[in-house]
Amino acid sequence: MLVVKSIPAFNDNYIWLIHNNQGQCAVVDPGDATPVLAYLKEHDLQLNTILITHHHSDHIGGVSELKREFSDVTIVGPQKDAVAGLTHSVGAGQQLELFGEHFIVLDLPGHTLGHIGFLGDGKLFCGDVLFSAGCGRVFEGTPAQMWQSLQKLASLPVETEVYSAHEYTSNNLSFAMAIEPSNPQLQIYREKVNQLRAHQKPTLPTTIEQEKWINPFLRVDMPEVINSVAHKTEDLSPEGVFTALRKWKDSF
Ligand SMILES: [Zn+2]
Repeated sequence: MLVVKSIPAFNDNYIWLIHNNQGQCAVVDPGDATPVLAYLKEHDLQLNTILITHHHSDHIGGVSELKREFSDVTIVGPQKDAVAGLTHSVGAGQQLELFGEHFIVLDLPGHTLGHIGFLGDGKLFCGDVLFSAGCGRVFEGTPAQMWQSLQKLASLPVETEVYSAHEYTSNNLSFAMAIEPSNPQLQIYREKVNQLRAHQKPTLPTTIEQEKWINPFLRVDMPEVINSVAHKTEDLSPEGVFTALRKWKDSF
C-alpha cells in the first residue's frame, strides 16, 4: 500500500507525492521544484520517479530542476503530448511498476490531446481531467473526446481514490449547485468542503462514488441536470448535455 501526500504549489495546484515508507518516492506533475525539494529534504526522501499527465507548464515546470538534483530519476509522461526530457513515453494500456504496485496508463484526451492518467493501488492520478464537482476545460480536444475520457473514469471501481491536480472544489460546487439545486448530496458535501477549506486542508482525494453523487459532468442523465441546460441546447443526449454544461461553466 502506497502513501500519498499533497504538496501545494502556486495558487491551487497539488503536486502529489507517492512514497513507499522506505525513503523512496515519486511525484506527479511537479509544476514547481521548490516545494518538492523542500518536502523531500524535510522528510529525508529520495526522488525515484516523476509522473507527468500533460504538457501544461503548471504540471511540468519543475521537471528540469528536479532532474538536476536527482540525475537518475525516471520521468514517465504522455507519448502524444510534447513534454521534454521524458525517459519513458507511455500511452493507453501500458503498465508501469511503482514501489511494487502495478499502474496502468489511461489515455484521457480533451483538456490536451495527449493527456494521460495513472491508475494503480486503487488510486487514480488524473491531472486536469476530473476534478471534484467539475472537470477540466477542453483546450485541445473536442467536448466529445472529453466526454469519452470522463466516461472511462466513471466506469472505474467506485471506491477508486481520485487525485486531481487542482483545489477547485469550492468553486466547482457553486456551479454544481446552480445546476442541481435539489440534490441533497451537494448540500452535505458543501458543508464538508467548507470545513476542510476553513482548516486549509485539501478536499482531495475524492472518489468515483462521491463524484457520481455530486459532479454534474458525471450526472448528465439526471432529469434536473438535463432541465438545467434545456434552454441552452437542443441536443439533450448525454454528450449534448455534457457539451452544454462545459460551455456554460467556461463563463460561469
Ligand atoms: Zn492543464
